[in-house]
Amino acid sequence: ATDFAPATDAPALLAEKPDSGRRVLDIVGLEKRFGTVNALSGVSLTVQEGEVVCVLGPSGSGKSTLLRCINMLERPDAGQIGIHSRGAGFDLAFGPAAPAVSGRELARLRSHVGMVFQHFNLWPHKLAIENVTEGLIRVRHVAGREAGLLAAELLARVGLGAKMMTFPNHLSGGQRQRVAIARALAMRPDVMLFDEPTSALDPELVGEVLQVLEDVAASGMTMLVATHEMGFARRVADRIVFMDGGQIVEIASAADFFERPQHERSIRFLEAVL
Ligand code: ADP
Ligand code: MG
Repeated sequence: ATDFAPATDAPALLAEKPDSGRRVLDIVGLEKRFGTVNALSGVSLTVQEGEVVCVLGPSGSGKSTLLRCINMLERPDAGQIGIHSRGAGFDLAFGPAAPAVSGRELARLRSHVGMVFQHFNLWPHKLAIENVTEGLIRVRHVAGREAGLLAAELLARVGLGAKMMTFPNHLSGGQRQRVAIARALAMRPDVMLFDEPTSALDPELVGEVLQVLEDVAASGMTMLVATHEMGFARRVADRIVFMDGGQIVEIASAADFFERPQHERSIRFLEAVL
């Protein structure tokens, strides 16, 4: 048995965004150093259920490090990360005095936090549908037949119903990234992290992936998206987090950020990219 809700139960484009005011992600004072580089210096951020937060900022500002720390692909040097999900909240604290995070805690964290990378990291020797069923079977312990049905639904939802039996090297970059999104959705995460999901794509393939991201957002998924797609951020984000030099320089609603940026570095960034 599984509590997986088939995608068809939640029509992506019709669902109202939940406005529960519930915090899904609570980051406090996150620090990460690489040698002498302060990749993150005291980053704090709260994300509410159903919220879409776009993380903007120049290259090297710490966007990837922030996302990778939330998923523990990097171990923060200090700070706290709280994930408050369906009935099972937990907090991890980091620092010299904090105990090491156990493999079990790590697996638990990852089961709540989905991540989609710039490079899709699909298994090349597995069909599109197998890339989606793999985690369902091995991590969520869904029976094979049921996993196949769920994966087929998710692939249809990202517009790949006709490509289920295709190997990744016969898919376009945009199609591969949509498989990666379906794979992450299959784990039913409480929050999805996207690290520049369209930056590796040819320009003509960016739109189809942004459309899927927009559909996922409209379904009520809580999302943190590092991106250079300003049009997408403006249209889809509830809030913008602007980073520079390993710090959050400005947090504002998308409308305020793009129309009335407050910080001199935000203003300069927008002048350079818009
Ligand atoms: P962004 O994603 O905004 O481009 P990153 O988080 O990748 O920024 O990088 C932030 C800073 O940390 C940069 O100065 C980068 O060079 C450095 N950095 C990131 N990852 C590593 C790493 N694995 N080793 C050393 N330095 C790193
Ligand atoms: Mg990056």
